[in-house]
Amino acid sequence: MTATRLALKLAVTLRHDGHGGVTDDLADTEGLAVWLREHAALLDGTTVPAAPDEALLTAVRELRAAVRSLFARAVRPGPPSAADAHRLPPEDEAIRRLNAAAARVPTAPQLTWEPGAPPALRLLPTGSPPAADTVLAALARAALTFLDGPERALLRACPAPRCVRYFVKDHARQEWCTPSCGNRARVARHHERHREGRGDAS
Ligand SMILES: [Zn+2]
Repeated sequence: MTATRLALKLAVTLRHDGHGGVTDDLADTEGLAVWLREHAALLDGTTVPAAPDEALLTAVRELRAAVRSLFARAVRPGPPSAADAHRLPPEDEAIRRLNAAAARVPTAPQLTWEPGAPPALRLLPTGSPPAADTVLAALARAALTFLDGPERALLRACPAPRCVRYFVKDHARQEWCTPSCGNRARVARHHERHREGRGDAS
């Protein structure tokens, strides 16, 4: 489930800023450096560059746009996240982008078997590709694995007011990404009904 977590984590770097707007964790190379450090455990087998350059930032942002374009397709007929729905790349371009990024680094299965632990199989880069390529390929592989897997059907865009988050449903009746979004949505519905009630009376 590492793929699901990594694909989602990349998608939600574009998020609600708490004041009705949208903020971007990957707005600059410093933001990308922090994000890569925080997600190093999910980026198995990659060499995370300590100081990512503008080229890597652009490539990661283009990859994220591709992921969000295909997330918008995956949640249909539900609505997509409103954060960037108006400026997503076309779906065929998004698929081409993800496939091309994944192909940057060939991988091979590698078995490890530590004492006292079950054997573990990991797909690791072969040869000695540039660090930036290992990161891009790992992000793309995670997205492709998620889109091909059973959790794609559980993907939703949170419908709470102002929320722009994609999430994977934990249980069938989950409507919102977090309990706090559920509370906000219920309060908004209550006010809406209240307003309509007053409208009818006057
Ligand atoms: Zn939400």
